[in-house]
Amino acid sequence: MRDWPLLSLRKPALLYWCLIYAAAVGVFLTSSLGGPPPTDDQIRDFGVLAGVSVLVVVVTSACDPFRAESPQSLWAVHIAYLLAGALTLPTNLVVLLMIGPVLQGVLEQRPGPHRWLFTTAATTVATFVACLVAGTCPNHYGDNLFGSLMVGGTLLAARALLVGFGFWLRKPQARPHEVFGEPLDVGVGVVAVCTGVLSAMVLLADPLAVIVLVPPLVLLGRATQLAQWRRSAQRDPKTGLTNATHWNRLARAELVRTRARRTTAAVLLLDLDHFKRVNDEIGHLAGDSALAAVAGLLQDEVQQRRDLVGRFGGEEFVILLPNTDPVSAERQAERIRLAVCGLAVPTTAADGHPHLLTGLTISIGVATSARFGHEIDTLMVAADSALLSAKNAGRNLVTLA
Ligand code: GH3
Ligand code: MG
Ligand code: MG
Repeated sequence: MRDWPLLSLRKPALLYWCLIYAAAVGVFLTSSLGGPPPTDDQIRDFGVLAGVSVLVVVVTSACDPFRAESPQSLWAVHIAYLLAGALTLPTNLVVLLMIGPVLQGVLEQRPGPHRWLFTTAATTVATFVACLVAGTCPNHYGDNLFGSLMVGGTLLAARALLVGFGFWLRKPQARPHEVFGEPLDVGVGVVAVCTGVLSAMVLLADPLAVIVLVPPLVLLGRATQLAQWRRSAQRDPKTGLTNATHWNRLARAELVRTRARRTTAAVLLLDLDHFKRVNDEIGHLAGDSALAAVAGLLQDEVQQRRDLVGRFGGEEFVILLPNTDPVSAERQAERIRLAVCGLAVPTTAADGHPHLLTGLTISIGVATSARFGHEIDTLMVAADSALLSAKNAGRNLVTLA
Protein backbone atom coordinates (compact mmCIF):
# COMPACT_ATOMS: atom_id res chain seq x y z
CA MET A 1 0.00 0.00 0.00
CA ARG A 2 2.98 2.25 0.64
CA ASP A 3 3.82 1.93 -3.07
CA TRP A 4 0.52 3.49 -4.13
CA PRO A 5 1.39 6.51 -6.29
CA LEU A 6 -1.44 8.39 -4.59
CA LEU A 7 0.42 8.19 -1.28
CA SER A 8 3.53 9.74 -2.82
CA LEU A 9 1.63 13.03 -3.28
CA ARG A 10 2.55 15.98 -1.09
CA LYS A 11 0.30 16.14 1.98
CA PRO A 12 -1.87 19.13 0.86
CA ALA A 13 -2.37 17.49 -2.54
CA LEU A 14 -3.22 14.13 -0.96
CA LEU A 15 -5.81 15.79 1.29
CA TYR A 16 -7.37 17.73 -1.57
CA TRP A 17 -7.41 14.75 -3.96
CA CYS A 18 -9.09 12.58 -1.26
CA LEU A 19 -11.60 15.38 -0.65
CA ILE A 20 -12.47 15.44 -4.36
CA TYR A 21 -12.78 11.61 -4.47
CA ALA A 22 -15.12 11.76 -1.44
CA ALA A 23 -17.13 14.65 -2.90
CA ALA A 24 -17.56 12.76 -6.18
CA VAL A 25 -18.75 9.61 -4.40
CA GLY A 26 -21.13 11.77 -2.30
CA VAL A 27 -22.46 13.57 -5.38
CA PHE A 28 -22.88 10.29 -7.25
CA LEU A 29 -24.71 8.51 -4.43
CA THR A 30 -26.99 11.37 -3.38
CA SER A 31 -27.84 12.32 -6.99
CA SER A 32 -28.38 8.85 -8.41
CA LEU A 33 -30.42 7.64 -5.41
CA GLY A 34 -32.37 10.86 -4.86
CA GLY A 35 -34.63 13.02 -7.02
CA PRO A 36 -37.97 12.21 -8.64
CA PRO A 37 -38.17 9.15 -10.89
CA PRO A 38 -37.34 10.13 -14.49
CA THR A 39 -40.00 10.14 -17.19
CA ASP A 40 -39.90 7.74 -20.15
CA ASP A 41 -38.75 10.58 -22.43
CA GLN A 42 -35.91 11.42 -20.06
CA ILE A 43 -34.84 7.79 -19.90
CA ARG A 44 -34.85 7.65 -23.72
CA ASP A 45 -32.77 10.87 -23.97
CA PHE A 46 -30.35 9.52 -21.37
CA GLY A 47 -30.02 6.29 -23.38
CA VAL A 48 -29.20 8.26 -26.52
CA LEU A 49 -26.55 10.42 -24.80
CA ALA A 50 -25.02 7.44 -22.98
CA GLY A 51 -24.95 5.52 -26.29
CA VAL A 52 -23.24 8.44 -28.04
CA SER A 53 -20.62 8.76 -25.26
CA VAL A 54 -19.85 5.03 -25.35
CA LEU A 55 -19.64 5.08 -29.16
CA VAL A 56 -17.26 8.04 -29.19
CA VAL A 57 -14.99 6.51 -26.53
CA VAL A 58 -14.92 3.10 -28.26
CA VAL A 59 -14.35 4.56 -31.77
CA THR A 60 -11.60 6.87 -30.50
CA SER A 61 -9.85 4.10 -28.59
CA ALA A 62 -10.13 1.65 -31.47
CA CYS A 63 -8.94 4.08 -34.14
CA ASP A 64 -5.89 5.48 -32.40
CA PRO A 65 -2.77 3.52 -33.39
CA PHE A 66 -0.62 5.59 -31.00
CA ARG A 67 -2.84 5.00 -27.97
CA ALA A 68 -0.19 3.04 -26.11
CA GLU A 69 2.41 5.78 -26.63
CA SER A 70 0.43 8.68 -25.25
CA PRO A 71 -2.71 8.10 -23.23
CA GLN A 72 -5.22 10.51 -24.59
CA SER A 73 -7.58 12.76 -22.78
CA LEU A 74 -11.12 13.07 -24.11
CA TRP A 75 -12.05 15.74 -21.59
CA ALA A 76 -13.59 18.03 -24.24
CA VAL A 77 -15.82 15.20 -25.51
CA HIS A 78 -16.93 14.37 -21.97
CA ILE A 79 -17.72 18.05 -21.36
CA ALA A 80 -19.85 18.18 -24.53
CA TYR A 81 -22.24 15.34 -23.71
CA LEU A 82 -22.25 15.98 -19.95
CA LEU A 83 -23.34 19.53 -20.74
CA ALA A 84 -26.04 18.25 -23.08
CA GLY A 85 -27.18 16.06 -20.18
CA ALA A 86 -27.06 18.91 -17.63
CA LEU A 87 -29.25 20.98 -19.99
CA THR A 88 -31.87 18.34 -20.65
CA LEU A 89 -31.89 15.66 -17.95
CA PRO A 90 -32.48 15.46 -14.19
CA THR A 91 -29.31 15.28 -12.09
CA ASN A 92 -29.85 11.63 -11.15
CA LEU A 93 -29.48 10.67 -14.83
CA VAL A 94 -26.71 13.16 -15.62
CA VAL A 95 -24.32 11.62 -13.06
CA LEU A 96 -24.86 8.22 -14.70
CA LEU A 97 -23.34 9.71 -17.88
CA MET A 98 -20.00 9.43 -16.09
CA ILE A 99 -20.01 6.00 -17.71
CA GLY A 100 -18.06 7.70 -20.55
CA PRO A 101 -14.90 8.69 -18.61
CA VAL A 102 -15.09 5.43 -16.63
CA LEU A 103 -15.21 3.37 -19.82
CA GLN A 104 -12.34 5.36 -21.30
CA GLY A 105 -10.19 4.71 -18.22
CA VAL A 106 -10.95 0.98 -18.35
CA LEU A 107 -10.29 0.69 -22.12
CA GLU A 108 -7.01 2.57 -21.97
CA GLN A 109 -5.67 0.96 -18.79
CA ARG A 110 -3.80 4.15 -18.06
CA PRO A 111 -0.61 4.22 -16.09
CA GLY A 112 -1.23 6.24 -12.92
CA PRO A 113 -4.93 5.41 -12.47
CA HIS A 114 -5.06 7.75 -9.44
CA ARG A 115 -4.66 10.74 -11.79
CA TRP A 116 -7.41 9.55 -14.10
CA LEU A 117 -9.64 8.84 -11.08
CA PHE A 118 -8.94 12.34 -9.79
CA THR A 119 -9.89 14.09 -13.06
CA THR A 120 -12.98 11.85 -13.35
CA ALA A 121 -13.99 12.72 -9.76
CA ALA A 122 -13.39 16.44 -10.37
CA THR A 123 -15.48 16.23 -13.56
CA THR A 124 -18.30 14.57 -11.59
CA VAL A 125 -18.29 17.40 -9.04
CA ALA A 126 -18.10 20.08 -11.79
CA THR A 127 -21.03 18.43 -13.61
CA PHE A 128 -23.06 18.50 -10.41
CA VAL A 129 -22.32 22.22 -10.01
CA ALA A 130 -23.42 22.78 -13.64
CA CYS A 131 -26.67 20.87 -12.91
CA LEU A 132 -27.30 23.16 -9.93
CA VAL A 133 -26.81 26.24 -12.14
CA ALA A 134 -29.04 24.69 -14.83
CA GLY A 135 -31.72 24.12 -12.20
CA THR A 136 -31.69 27.80 -11.29
CA CYS A 137 -32.30 29.00 -14.85
CA PRO A 138 -35.62 27.75 -16.20
CA ASN A 139 -35.92 27.13 -19.93
CA HIS A 140 -32.15 27.04 -20.01
CA TYR A 141 -32.04 25.43 -23.42
CA GLY A 142 -33.51 26.06 -26.84
CA ASP A 143 -35.16 29.39 -26.21
CA ASN A 144 -32.53 30.48 -23.71
CA LEU A 145 -29.19 30.26 -25.45
CA PHE A 146 -27.55 32.58 -22.95
CA GLY A 147 -28.61 30.35 -20.03
CA SER A 148 -27.26 27.26 -21.81
CA LEU A 149 -23.92 28.91 -22.49
CA MET A 150 -23.76 30.00 -18.86
CA VAL A 151 -24.25 26.40 -17.70
CA GLY A 152 -21.56 25.31 -20.18
CA GLY A 153 -19.17 28.00 -18.96
CA THR A 154 -19.79 26.91 -15.37
CA LEU A 155 -18.99 23.28 -16.20
CA LEU A 156 -15.82 24.23 -18.09
CA ALA A 157 -14.56 26.69 -15.45
CA ALA A 158 -15.47 24.50 -12.45
CA ARG A 159 -13.68 21.50 -13.95
CA ALA A 160 -10.61 23.58 -14.88
CA LEU A 161 -10.41 25.04 -11.35
CA LEU A 162 -10.96 21.75 -9.52
CA VAL A 163 -8.45 19.86 -11.66
CA GLY A 164 -5.96 22.75 -11.95
CA PHE A 165 -5.88 23.36 -8.19
CA GLY A 166 -5.20 19.65 -7.60
CA PHE A 167 -2.33 19.62 -10.12
CA TRP A 168 -0.92 22.81 -8.63
CA LEU A 169 -0.95 21.31 -5.12
CA ARG A 170 0.82 18.26 -6.53
CA LYS A 171 3.50 20.36 -8.23
CA PRO A 172 3.51 23.98 -6.97
CA GLN A 173 6.45 24.93 -9.20
CA ALA A 174 4.48 24.00 -12.35
CA ARG A 175 3.93 26.77 -14.87
CA PRO A 176 0.37 28.10 -15.32
CA HIS A 177 -0.08 26.40 -18.71
CA GLU A 178 0.82 23.03 -17.15
CA VAL A 179 -1.85 23.55 -14.50
CA PHE A 180 -4.70 25.22 -16.38
CA GLY A 181 -3.83 24.37 -19.98
CA GLU A 182 -2.82 26.57 -22.88
CA PRO A 183 -4.93 29.06 -24.87
CA LEU A 184 -5.41 26.23 -27.37
CA ASP A 185 -7.05 24.15 -24.61
CA VAL A 186 -9.38 27.03 -23.81
CA GLY A 187 -10.34 27.15 -27.52
CA VAL A 188 -11.07 23.42 -27.49
CA GLY A 189 -13.13 23.90 -24.31
CA VAL A 190 -15.22 26.61 -26.00
CA VAL A 191 -15.86 24.26 -28.95
CA ALA A 192 -16.87 21.56 -26.42
CA VAL A 193 -19.39 23.91 -24.79
CA CYS A 194 -20.87 24.95 -28.15
CA THR A 195 -21.11 21.28 -29.18
CA GLY A 196 -22.82 20.46 -25.88
CA VAL A 197 -25.39 23.24 -26.34
CA LEU A 198 -26.03 22.10 -29.92
CA SER A 199 -26.38 18.48 -28.77
CA ALA A 200 -28.99 19.56 -26.20
CA MET A 201 -30.97 21.39 -28.88
CA VAL A 202 -30.82 18.41 -31.25
CA LEU A 203 -31.80 16.06 -28.42
CA LEU A 204 -34.91 18.11 -27.68
CA ALA A 205 -35.88 18.39 -31.35
CA ASP A 206 -35.16 14.83 -32.46
CA PRO A 207 -33.37 12.54 -29.95
CA LEU A 208 -32.12 9.97 -32.45
CA ALA A 209 -30.57 12.71 -34.61
CA VAL A 210 -27.93 13.16 -31.89
CA ILE A 211 -26.18 10.21 -33.50
CA VAL A 212 -24.95 12.56 -36.28
CA LEU A 213 -22.84 14.26 -33.61
CA VAL A 214 -20.65 11.17 -33.17
CA PRO A 215 -18.13 12.05 -35.95
CA PRO A 216 -17.75 15.70 -34.80
CA LEU A 217 -17.29 14.46 -31.24
CA VAL A 218 -14.61 11.97 -32.34
CA LEU A 219 -12.88 14.87 -34.13
CA LEU A 220 -13.22 17.00 -31.00
CA GLY A 221 -11.46 14.20 -29.13
CA ARG A 222 -8.56 14.45 -31.59
CA ALA A 223 -8.50 18.23 -31.14
CA THR A 224 -8.05 17.67 -27.40
CA GLN A 225 -4.62 16.27 -28.28
CA LEU A 226 -3.58 19.36 -30.27
CA ALA A 227 -1.83 21.15 -27.40
CA GLN A 228 -0.05 17.93 -26.42
CA TRP A 229 1.10 17.29 -30.02
CA ARG A 230 2.33 20.85 -30.32
CA ARG A 231 4.22 20.56 -27.06
CA SER A 232 5.94 17.34 -28.17
CA ALA A 233 6.90 18.99 -31.46
CA GLN A 234 8.53 21.83 -29.53
CA ARG A 235 10.26 19.88 -26.80
CA ASP A 236 13.30 17.64 -26.68
CA PRO A 237 12.05 14.37 -25.18
CA LYS A 238 15.31 13.38 -23.51
CA THR A 239 15.78 16.53 -21.46
CA GLY A 240 12.33 18.13 -21.48
CA LEU A 241 13.93 21.35 -22.75
CA THR A 242 12.76 23.40 -25.72
CA ASN A 243 14.24 21.87 -28.87
CA ALA A 244 16.61 23.79 -31.14
CA THR A 245 14.03 24.81 -33.76
CA HIS A 246 11.52 26.11 -31.26
CA TRP A 247 14.22 27.76 -29.15
CA ASN A 248 15.41 29.63 -32.24
CA ARG A 249 11.87 30.86 -32.96
CA LEU A 250 11.32 31.98 -29.35
CA ALA A 251 14.75 33.59 -29.09
CA ARG A 252 14.21 35.54 -32.33
CA ALA A 253 10.90 36.93 -31.00
CA GLU A 254 12.42 37.73 -27.59
CA LEU A 255 15.32 39.59 -29.21
CA VAL A 256 12.88 41.72 -31.21
CA ARG A 257 11.23 42.69 -27.91
CA THR A 258 14.60 43.31 -26.28
CA ARG A 259 15.65 45.61 -29.11
CA ALA A 260 12.34 47.50 -28.95
CA ARG A 261 12.85 48.03 -25.21
CA ARG A 262 16.43 49.16 -25.89
CA THR A 263 17.85 46.63 -23.45
CA THR A 264 20.68 44.16 -23.92
CA ALA A 265 20.56 40.38 -24.07
CA ALA A 266 23.10 37.56 -24.02
CA VAL A 267 23.36 34.13 -25.63
CA LEU A 268 25.19 31.32 -23.84
CA LEU A 269 26.29 28.27 -25.83
CA LEU A 270 27.27 25.40 -23.53
CA ASP A 271 29.03 22.13 -24.37
CA LEU A 272 29.82 19.33 -21.92
CA ASP A 273 33.52 18.49 -21.85
CA HIS A 274 34.75 15.07 -22.96
CA PHE A 275 31.22 13.77 -22.85
CA LYS A 276 32.08 10.94 -25.20
CA ARG A 277 34.11 9.44 -22.34
CA VAL A 278 30.99 9.24 -20.16
CA ASN A 279 29.27 7.17 -22.84
CA ASP A 280 32.34 5.04 -23.52
CA GLU A 281 33.28 4.41 -19.90
CA ILE A 282 29.93 4.29 -18.06
CA GLY A 283 27.35 3.78 -20.78
CA HIS A 284 24.93 5.66 -22.98
CA LEU A 285 22.05 5.42 -20.53
CA ALA A 286 24.22 7.05 -17.87
CA GLY A 287 25.06 9.69 -20.50
CA ASP A 288 21.35 10.31 -21.02
CA SER A 289 20.82 10.70 -17.26
CA ALA A 290 23.66 13.20 -17.13
CA LEU A 291 22.11 15.22 -19.99
CA ALA A 292 18.75 15.29 -18.20
CA ALA A 293 20.43 16.32 -14.92
CA VAL A 294 22.35 19.15 -16.61
CA ALA A 295 19.13 20.31 -18.32
CA GLY A 296 17.37 20.42 -14.94
CA LEU A 297 20.29 22.31 -13.42
CA LEU A 298 20.25 24.91 -16.21
CA GLN A 299 16.55 25.50 -15.70
CA ASP A 300 17.09 25.92 -11.98
CA GLU A 301 20.01 28.28 -12.49
CA VAL A 302 18.31 30.81 -14.79
CA GLN A 303 16.60 33.50 -12.80
CA GLN A 304 14.21 35.46 -14.96
CA ARG A 305 10.88 34.16 -16.20
CA ARG A 306 11.78 35.07 -19.79
CA ASP A 307 15.19 33.33 -19.80
CA LEU A 308 15.13 30.64 -22.47
CA VAL A 309 16.93 27.32 -22.02
CA GLY A 310 17.11 24.94 -24.98
CA ARG A 311 18.88 21.80 -26.14
CA PHE A 312 20.96 22.89 -29.11
CA GLY A 313 22.18 19.42 -30.14
CA GLY A 314 23.82 16.28 -28.66
CA GLU A 315 25.53 17.48 -25.46
CA GLU A 316 25.15 21.16 -26.28
CA PHE A 317 22.73 23.56 -24.67
CA VAL A 318 21.82 27.15 -25.38
CA ILE A 319 20.44 29.90 -23.17
CA LEU A 320 19.06 33.33 -24.04
CA LEU A 321 19.20 35.83 -21.20
CA PRO A 322 17.06 38.87 -22.07
CA ASN A 323 17.53 42.12 -20.12
CA THR A 324 21.04 41.08 -19.14
CA ASP A 325 24.22 43.14 -19.49
CA PRO A 326 27.57 41.55 -20.41
CA VAL A 327 28.90 41.54 -16.83
CA SER A 328 25.81 39.79 -15.42
CA ALA A 329 25.80 37.33 -18.35
CA GLU A 330 29.40 36.32 -17.69
CA ARG A 331 28.71 36.05 -13.96
CA GLN A 332 25.69 33.85 -14.60
CA ALA A 333 27.69 31.64 -16.99
CA GLU A 334 30.39 31.26 -14.34
CA ARG A 335 27.77 30.25 -11.76
CA ILE A 336 26.41 27.63 -14.16
CA ARG A 337 29.91 26.30 -14.84
CA LEU A 338 30.58 25.87 -11.11
CA ALA A 339 27.17 24.27 -10.54
CA VAL A 340 27.87 21.68 -13.26
CA CYS A 341 31.23 20.89 -11.59
CA GLY A 342 29.37 20.12 -8.37
CA LEU A 343 26.76 17.89 -10.01
CA ALA A 344 26.42 14.29 -8.76
CA VAL A 345 24.07 12.23 -10.95
CA PRO A 346 22.82 8.85 -9.75
CA THR A 347 22.97 6.57 -12.82
CA THR A 348 23.12 2.93 -13.76
CA ALA A 349 26.38 1.86 -15.38
CA ALA A 350 26.52 -0.39 -18.45
CA ASP A 351 27.26 -3.38 -16.15
CA GLY A 352 23.93 -2.76 -14.39
CA HIS A 353 25.41 -1.46 -11.15
CA PRO A 354 24.44 1.91 -9.65
CA HIS A 355 27.01 4.59 -10.38
CA LEU A 356 27.20 8.11 -8.98
CA LEU A 357 28.42 10.21 -11.89
CA THR A 358 30.58 13.14 -10.79
CA GLY A 359 33.32 15.25 -12.33
CA LEU A 360 31.25 16.63 -15.21
CA THR A 361 32.51 19.95 -16.57
CA ILE A 362 31.17 22.34 -19.16
CA SER A 363 32.61 25.00 -21.46
CA ILE A 364 30.54 28.10 -22.16
CA GLY A 365 30.75 30.73 -24.90
CA VAL A 366 28.96 34.01 -24.20
CA ALA A 367 27.91 36.59 -26.80
CA THR A 368 26.06 39.79 -25.96
CA SER A 369 23.83 42.06 -28.00
CA ALA A 370 25.80 45.03 -26.64
CA ARG A 371 28.63 43.93 -28.92
CA PHE A 372 26.99 41.85 -31.67
CA GLY A 373 23.51 43.32 -32.03
CA HIS A 374 20.11 41.66 -31.68
CA GLU A 375 20.25 39.20 -34.61
CA ILE A 376 20.07 35.63 -33.30
CA ASP A 377 22.22 34.18 -36.12
CA THR A 378 25.05 36.67 -35.47
CA LEU A 379 24.87 36.07 -31.72
CA MET A 380 25.01 32.29 -32.21
CA VAL A 381 28.08 32.51 -34.47
CA ALA A 382 29.82 34.74 -31.90
CA ALA A 383 28.86 32.45 -28.98
CA ASP A 384 30.08 29.40 -30.94
CA SER A 385 33.42 31.05 -31.62
CA ALA A 386 33.76 31.93 -27.91
CA LEU A 387 32.91 28.32 -27.01
CA LEU A 388 35.64 27.10 -29.35
CA SER A 389 38.11 29.41 -27.60
CA ALA A 390 37.05 27.98 -24.23
CA LYS A 391 37.64 24.44 -25.53
CA ASN A 392 41.03 25.37 -26.99
CA ALA A 393 42.04 27.10 -23.75
CA GLY A 394 41.65 23.84 -21.84
CA ARG A 395 37.84 23.41 -21.26
CA ASN A 396 35.79 23.98 -18.06
CA LEU A 397 35.90 27.70 -18.87
CA VAL A 398 33.64 30.65 -19.65
CA THR A 399 34.73 32.83 -22.57
CA LEU A 400 33.13 36.12 -23.57
CA ALA A 401 33.10 36.88 -27.30
P1 GH3 B 1 34.58 18.06 -26.13
O1 GH3 B 1 35.11 18.37 -24.79
O2 GH3 B 1 35.52 18.41 -27.21
O3 GH3 B 1 33.23 18.62 -26.35
O4 GH3 B 1 34.47 16.48 -26.17
P2 GH3 B 1 33.16 15.62 -26.32
O5 GH3 B 1 33.54 14.20 -26.09
O6 GH3 B 1 32.09 16.14 -25.43
O7 GH3 B 1 32.73 15.94 -27.76
P3 GH3 B 1 32.43 15.05 -29.01
O8 GH3 B 1 31.76 15.96 -30.00
O9 GH3 B 1 33.62 14.29 -29.45
O10 GH3 B 1 31.36 14.02 -28.49
C1 GH3 B 1 30.09 14.40 -28.10
C2 GH3 B 1 29.47 13.17 -27.55
O11 GH3 B 1 28.16 13.41 -27.06
C3 GH3 B 1 29.33 12.09 -28.61
C4 GH3 B 1 27.99 11.49 -28.36
O12 GH3 B 1 28.11 10.14 -28.10
C5 GH3 B 1 27.48 12.21 -27.14
N1 GH3 B 1 26.07 12.46 -27.26
C6 GH3 B 1 25.44 13.30 -28.09
N2 GH3 B 1 24.09 13.22 -27.91
C7 GH3 B 1 23.90 12.30 -26.93
C8 GH3 B 1 22.73 11.76 -26.31
O13 GH3 B 1 21.60 12.13 -26.58
N3 GH3 B 1 22.92 10.81 -25.35
C9 GH3 B 1 24.17 10.39 -25.01
N4 GH3 B 1 24.27 9.46 -24.07
N5 GH3 B 1 25.27 10.86 -25.59
C10 GH3 B 1 25.14 11.80 -26.53
MG1 MG C 1 29.59 18.99 -28.73
MG1 MG D 1 31.36 18.11 -25.71
